[in-house]
Amino acid sequence: MKNSEIKEKRGAPLRMKLFWILAAFCVFIIAILWVLQVVLMDGFYQSVTVVKMNRHSHDIEMAIKNDGDVRAAAYNAAESSGACVSVYMIKGGTGMKVADAHVKNGCFVHDLIADGDLNRIYSEAQNSNGSFSGKIGTGNESEDEGSILVANIIDHGGVSYMLLFGTESFPVGTMSSTVTVQLVMITVILIVGAGVLAVIISRKITRPVSELCSEAERLAVGDYSVNFSSCAVDELNRLGDTLKYAAAELERSDRLQRELIANITHDLRTPLTMISGYSEVMRDIPGEVTPENLQVIIDESARLSALVSDVLEVSKAQNKAMVLNLAPIPITDVVRATVTRYGTMLKDKGYTLRFESDGTSAVTVGDETKLVQALCNLINNGVNFTGEDKIVTVRQTVNNGVCRIEVSDTGKGIPADELESIWDRYYRARDFQNKGIAGSGLGLAIVKNILILHGASFGVESAVGVGSTFWFEVKTQ
Ligand code: ADP
Repeated sequence: MKNSEIKEKRGAPLRMKLFWILAAFCVFIIAILWVLQVVLMDGFYQSVTVVKMNRHSHDIEMAIKNDGDVRAAAYNAAESSGACVSVYMIKGGTGMKVADAHVKNGCFVHDLIADGDLNRIYSEAQNSNGSFSGKIGTGNESEDEGSILVANIIDHGGVSYMLLFGTESFPVGTMSSTVTVQLVMITVILIVGAGVLAVIISRKITRPVSELCSEAERLAVGDYSVNFSSCAVDELNRLGDTLKYAAAELERSDRLQRELIANITHDLRTPLTMISGYSEVMRDIPGEVTPENLQVIIDESARLSALVSDVLEVSKAQNKAMVLNLAPIPITDVVRATVTRYGTMLKDKGYTLRFESDGTSAVTVGDETKLVQALCNLINNGVNFTGEDKIVTVRQTVNNGVCRIEVSDTGKGIPADELESIWDRYYRARDFQNKGIAGSGLGLAIVKNILILHGASFGVESAVGVGSTFWFEVKTQ
C-alpha cells in the first residue's frame, strides 16, 4: 500500500465520534428516565400503594378473625399505610360501618359512601375473588385526581366484612410536566457536558495518536528516528514502544543488509581475483600450469560455491522453504565421524580437532544432513577463530534424555554485547570485519534456522581472551 493510499483512508475525527457516542448515550439515559418517571410512574405508584394497603388490610383481617380491637387495628393500618380506612359489616344488602380511620378529610373512602357506591364496590370485589383494587373516581376528575381503592371481603362467624382502603392517586399530569421540564434541562446540560468531555478526551487521545501516525508515516518512508513522548494512555504508550522497537529492528536489518552487500562483494572479489589471476598466469606462462596453481583455482571456486550456497540456504529459511527429512540419527556416531573427517582435512594446516564424550551413545530424531551442516558451521567458526594453539574441541554429553553438543575454541572470544547479534544474518563481529577471515556472516544464521526447525535449544558461552563454546541440545530417543 502506498503512503498516499494510507492518507486517503481517513474517517471522521475522533472528537466528533466521541461527541456523538456520548450524546447518544445521554439521550438514551434520558429516554429511559422519561419512560420510568412519566409514562410508567402512575402504574408503579398504583401497584406499590395497592401492595402496601393489602399488607395492612391483612392486619385488620386478623383483628376481626381473632375478635380483637378492630377500631385500633384500623387506626394503626391507616397511620402506617397513609390511607383512609373503613371497615363495614355487610348485612342484608346494607353496610354498617364498624371502624373508621382517616388521614385526610374529603377522601374517597370518607365521602363515599352512599349505599349504591358501597354495593358497587362490594359486588366488584366479590366478582374478583373477594379482593378489588384499582383507580376509582366520580368520572369528572382530571388525570391527577381520583383515588386508589382497595376493597377486601372477609367472612367471619357467618358475617361478611368489607375492608376499604383509599388514598389519593399519583398526580401524573403535574408530575409529568415538572419532570419533562427537568429532563429537558438535564438533557441540555448533559449534551453540553458530552461536548466538553469529547474535547477533553479527544485531546488526551488524539494528540498522541496523531503523533504516532506521523511517526509511523516517517518510518514508512525509511526515517528510523522514531520519537514518541509518553502520554496518559497505557495502550498508546505500548504502541509507541512497539513502533520504536520496530524502527530499531528495521534500522538494524537495513544496516545488516548493507553490510551483507559489502561483505559478499568483498568475499566474492577475493576468490574471483585469485581465479582470474592464476588462470591468466597459467595461460601466459606454460610452466606455471602446476598442480599447486590449479589447486588454488579449485579451492577458490569451492569458496565461491560455498558462499553462494550459504546465501541460498538463508534465503530458503527466510522464505520458510527449508524442509526437514526426519529420521532417527545415531547422533554420537555422526558427530564423531564429522569431527574425524574435519580433523583429517585440517591436520596438514596444523589444526587439532578433538572429540570428547561422556561415553554415552545417543540417538535423536532429525535431519542428518542439516544437523551435520549446523555442526560443520560451528566447527568451521571454531577453526577460523581459535587461538594460536589451533585446537577445537567437540564435546558430547547426555543428561536426562537430552544430548548436548559443544564446540569450543581457544580464540579471542566474543564481547558480551555482541553475543546476541552474532546469530543474525550477515552479522560479522567488529573485530573480525577487516581481518580477512573468510565468511559471509551467514553461518550462524543457518545454524540457528536449522536448530529452531529441530526444536533444539542452543546458545554460546564466551569469555574474551579465553575462547567460545557454542552448544546445542537435542532430545534423545
Ligand atoms: P561468518 O561466516 O562471518 O563466520 P557466522 O554467522 O558464522 O559468519 O558468524 C558471525 C560472526 O560471529 C562472525 O563473523 C564472528 O564475528 C562471530 N563468531 C562466530 N563464531 C565465533 C567464534 N567461534 N569465536 C569468535 N567469534 C565468532
